[in-house]
Amino acid sequence: MRAGFRRYFGQAPAELAPMLARLSLLALGCNPASSEAHAQPAGDGSAAQVASAVAEVAASASSAPAASAEPVSAQAGSSGAPRSHAGDGVVTLSAVGDCTLGDPAGSELAPGSFHDVLAKHGGDLAYPFSGVRALLEDDDLTIANLEGTLTTRAPRTDIPFAFRGRPEFAGMLPLGSVELVALANNHMNDCGPRGTDDTIAALEAEKVGYFGLGHVDKRTIDGVEVVNLGWTGGRDEILGEVQRAVRAHKRDENLVIVSFHWGIENEHAVNSVQLKLGRGAVDAGADLVLGHHPHVLQGIETYEGRTIVYSLGNFVFGGNARPAELDTVIFRARFAKRDGKVVELDHELVPVSVSGHRAQNDFRPVPLEGSDAARVRENLARYSASLPR
Ligand SMILES: [Zn+2]
Repeated sequence: MRAGFRRYFGQAPAELAPMLARLSLLALGCNPASSEAHAQPAGDGSAAQVASAVAEVAASASSAPAASAEPVSAQAGSSGAPRSHAGDGVVTLSAVGDCTLGDPAGSELAPGSFHDVLAKHGGDLAYPFSGVRALLEDDDLTIANLEGTLTTRAPRTDIPFAFRGRPEFAGMLPLGSVELVALANNHMNDCGPRGTDDTIAALEAEKVGYFGLGHVDKRTIDGVEVVNLGWTGGRDEILGEVQRAVRAHKRDENLVIVSFHWGIENEHAVNSVQLKLGRGAVDAGADLVLGHHPHVLQGIETYEGRTIVYSLGNFVFGGNARPAELDTVIFRARFAKRDGKVVELDHELVPVSVSGHRAQNDFRPVPLEGSDAARVRENLARYSASLPR
């Protein structure tokens, strides 16, 4: 947090892999064939659709209450100006997608695995987030989805594969300026309940916050209470529970963020359960909804004045050594009290590649620039334009 903003340069001229149209009927429950293959459905969208979506995103940002400090473009990748956060009354949040700090259990010794790549970098726990740390420390709070366990327990044998990393890998999070992780996902129980307990203990040892699985994270930033809630959102039957929890926590002067692990793997299209839960959480008072699980990016919308990010894609993702799709983003938003109510001032999307190498995941996300960044923004605008109204 709060180091001087440095200009950064992307290193990875990532290109879209050949598009593979593929329909997945899997709702939740990472399937090796699906999640490991990262097949990408062919999207389609006219230039006019993209242009109108870009204009809409820009308009929704400009219609937000005026910011007192430097405005951040909703589509801006970065700005070169130093930013100061302490005491400015503005809560700046970053959010990133699936972080699997380990490998499918049993493949740790395989060449190119997460454990292998880390060993080749001298076991440096700062390595995975080192390409984006400058961005993630330039905020008040960074939230990630922890898609896997941090334990030495044996993996469950009743699942196709289990994501597992060594407990000390929890140290990668603070070294990357990630302060808070979501636990509510389909891999947190991959090594059984004691594996989950070990993971939580590993996070606590590194003073990393967590929420989901019944846990709520509450913290105060610049005088604003920030509450994080999370669910595995594969079924819309949980809407009542979600809305009750949001209402129990929401006050005018605080910020309530709801994370859902939902959607269909490798699908850029948002499904009806996501729409119902995301918009339903906002209806109950959520200020921001963050989504993950599909492993790829999905659209973003402004609903009743609140932002819903349907899928943040992958980030430091040890679950796949050769992902077909590398594009992802860092979502950043600023909130402040206006007339006694916390409101979003603006948000931006920073295009990132999950790997500095195309053919082989190096598990070190790097920012994208130029035509690569433009591609990510255009794709996101297209996914957003296809959201049902
Ligand atoms: Zn998942």
